[in-house]
Amino acid sequence: MRLFEYQGKDLFRKYGIPIPESVVVRTDAELDSALQKVGLPAVVKAQVLAGGRGKAGGVAVVKSRDEARKAASRIRQLRIGGERPSSLLVERATPIREEMYLSITLDRGTRSFVIIGARVGGVDVESMQGKIMEPVPVDGLKEWAAKSVAFRMNLWGQDEAQFVRILMDLERLCREEECELAEINPLAISGDGTMVALDSKIVIDDNALFRHHEFSQLPPEDPLEGEASKDGFSFVRLDGDLAVVGNGAGLVLSTLDLVADAGGVPACFLDLGGGSQQERVEAALRLVKKLPNTKRVLVNIFGGITRTTDVAAGLKKVVGEGGMQPIYARISGAEEAQARSLLAGTPVKLYPTAAEAVKAAVSKA
Ligand code: GDP
Ligand code: MN
Repeated sequence: MRLFEYQGKDLFRKYGIPIPESVVVRTDAELDSALQKVGLPAVVKAQVLAGGRGKAGGVAVVKSRDEARKAASRIRQLRIGGERPSSLLVERATPIREEMYLSITLDRGTRSFVIIGARVGGVDVESMQGKIMEPVPVDGLKEWAAKSVAFRMNLWGQDEAQFVRILMDLERLCREEECELAEINPLAISGDGTMVALDSKIVIDDNALFRHHEFSQLPPEDPLEGEASKDGFSFVRLDGDLAVVGNGAGLVLSTLDLVADAGGVPACFLDLGGGSQQERVEAALRLVKKLPNTKRVLVNIFGGITRTTDVAAGLKKVVGEGGMQPIYARISGAEEAQARSLLAGTPVKLYPTAAEAVKAAVSKA
């Protein structure tokens, strides 16, 4: 997941990487108070996920409040890579003596991070001449290795000390926040010689997003799905009225197809998994019981590793508790005969084939 510049700079602040003072704004009133805070001249920057904002006119250096307002209203109308700015970042302008490039990125080939540095920043990394690459050992970046990057970038004395600190902080950020990319372009040397990160580009590994909720824009989790995953079921809530429960993903998926072909609409997909014990069957049915618009339940079990007698005992128990929706079941395989006799006299309707069970469940709708 790619972060906005301001989110990346929040991370820079957290890890001690120097950034100019800045405020995120949406309205003109917020713009005015942001200018009060950061002072003039200031930079007004479009917040879009696409790159190349500078070239697209999405970055403006302004010297007065008037100029800032004009730039802001112009930038709000821009489309950068098809994207309208969701907000603007107002930042104290930095007098730039030099622009450098620094990033750490995941190199899938060597299964490690690699540092890319160059004295010429502000341009695309692909076009950079004389860029320096340094692999990062999996146990973290050592100071001598960071110094060696500084050395090869011809950064000495004061510059080297600042650079090494920034590089070490960036590497820690990259590791702890589980980034695929952490880029500073430009990393500027300002008029007074201090280094400052003027831009950020951070991509968090999507597989690690669940550990970084502050950035996740996913809707809040369905509580029933949460409950199901705690129990180890594969469960997806759907918007129909016929709950579909089975053992094995393939069997449940093909049952969904049968339901759709018969003109029914599934209320959920619930895979019990192989080798289901009676307690798991009960837990699954109690979950289905909580599904609001569900009028009937279709149970399709093929007994192999799962014993059909365990399934039947679970069904009998939950149906006996009351409040369960009508169940239409096909139960075949190991111990099938015993399973049938266990369910005799209960409201569970048994059918010899899945197609017949589906047809019955759907026609009762
Ligand atoms: P990008 O084009 O999306 O990568 O946006 P950047 O944030 O990197 O800005 C593009 C360019 O604007 C930079 O390379 C700088 O040359 C310039 N720029 C950004 N911030 C400042 C600043 O504070 N002062 C000055 N003078 N130029 C800036
Ligand atoms: Mn940039």
